[in-house]
Amino acid sequence: MLTCKEASRLCSEALDRPLELRERLTLKMHLLLCSGCSNYNAQMARLRAISRGYAAGAFANEPAARGGSLPPDERGEGGANG
Ligand SMILES: [Zn+2]
Repeated sequence: MLTCKEASRLCSEALDRPLELRERLTLKMHLLLCSGCSNYNAQMARLRAISRGYAAGAFANEPAARGGSLPPDERGEGGANG
């Protein structure tokens, strides 16, 4: 039986490389029995999907995604005493 620490490590590794059969089986067994790791696994998969979408430019039109510099604010000198 995997510990939660091992299970969470396998969850994140599963996103980067194909797990071996033994790893898949032990992880699946743990996820069936452990709701915490099951939630973690689901969140990792969702985060990965979101970050892939972000990398692909899915959020390019979001203002927060633009880290560019704003145009300088042009201010005229308002001389009241002049
Ligand atoms: Zn667990």
